[in-house]
Amino acid sequence: MSNPIIERELSYGAHNYEPLPVVLVRGEGVHVWDDAGNRYIDMMSAYSAVSHGHCHPRLVRVLQEQAGKLNIVSRAFYTDKLGVFLKKVCDLTGFQSALPMNTGAEAVETALKAARKWAYTCKGVPKDKAEIIACAGNFHGRTITIVGMSTVPQYKAGFGPFPEGFKVIPYGDAAQLENAITSNTAAFLVEPIIGEGGIVVPPAGYLKACAEICKKHNVLMICDEIQTGLGRTGKLLAFQHEGIKPDAVVLGKALGGGLLPVSLFLSSKEVMSVFTPGDHGSTFGGNPLAAAVGNAALDVLIEEKLIERAEKTGAYFQQQLKGIPSKLIKDVRGKGLLIGLEIDESYPAHDICLKLLKHGILTKETHHTVIRFAPPLIISEEQIDAAVKSLQEVFADIEAEMKVKQ
Ligand SMILES: *Cc1c(COP(=O)(O)O)cnc(C)c1O
Repeated sequence: MSNPIIERELSYGAHNYEPLPVVLVRGEGVHVWDDAGNRYIDMMSAYSAVSHGHCHPRLVRVLQEQAGKLNIVSRAFYTDKLGVFLKKVCDLTGFQSALPMNTGAEAVETALKAARKWAYTCKGVPKDKAEIIACAGNFHGRTITIVGMSTVPQYKAGFGPFPEGFKVIPYGDAAQLENAITSNTAAFLVEPIIGEGGIVVPPAGYLKACAEICKKHNVLMICDEIQTGLGRTGKLLAFQHEGIKPDAVVLGKALGGGLLPVSLFLSSKEVMSVFTPGDHGSTFGGNPLAAAVGNAALDVLIEEKLIERAEKTGAYFQQQLKGIPSKLIKDVRGKGLLIGLEIDESYPAHDICLKLLKHGILTKETHHTVIRFAPPLIISEEQIDAAVKSLQEVFADIEAEMKVKQ
């Protein structure tokens, strides 16, 4: 059954993705519709970029108003929107200074540059000797430097050589961090919960222990909260579950309210002061359209209590998922509305996603055996009940199918 819309995209586009066979044409709240008018509940939220729901009316209004007023002027000039946005995000998160970029990968690159320059100018690391420690299973984006830190062979294969100065240690074991630190270590880059790498929640106390180790050795702890941040896990920032405050944080995805790419690197004035005019930049980073939308996205997050909702509905959703009787489900894990369902290897998680699609649920496997459930944070318990009902049907079908085969 070929769809000409899909055929056209496949014939003119690079095949660096393998989309599910559905053509989406409209979105509203937690739902999207395909070109035949079928409605789906979005359990992907564009990898958590759509935490506010699709086409949030207030955010669309801000976008439209700003689009008719002033959009892109570059950072060669001041605008009336950028400072307002940066102050808001600093006040909310407790960091002193912010550097705006567009995509997550650019904000991670910014963090790496800041950490290296801080190591040379503040810590006294000899020229070109700075080291950055990352974790196995990480996902920080797709630039050559960033995939150089990856432990997923496919992300790197064919793209070398990679920059030097990176070390990878196992995730979830703070002693390994302490072993890996040398006098040249600039920073430790870590996801509070590994997202793309399979929704991996580290043992309780891990981040707290890492924060203490980093402090002891004068190493910057940088949390990549591009996926876990802004309420996704039931706290504004996921590191708050452990009552810590890292030296820096990277935000993206939901910061753009599901409308635009907006990312930030946030840190102290000391770290940020390593950047001087001309050191680093972005043509589009911090543009007034992005700043206006990002600012409103933060307002909506607070005013609509999306953080509290994620905590409450996330716990409810996890509990419902744990109640699905299927031998194929090996684990249900996550925090708030960042949930992974680990599927037994004997059944391809991708095939389950195809079946879910037929039942009106959009999601995608990550890491081959984990199905991600990360709906917009505005989802209601009734909508979760409806999704769980479809999930029960799909798993019951699969169980029946497997019995026939035996
Ligand atoms: C998505 C993601 C990124 C990369 O963001 P892009 O906007 O795709 O460049 C980086 N880190 C984490 C944790 C992510 O989930």
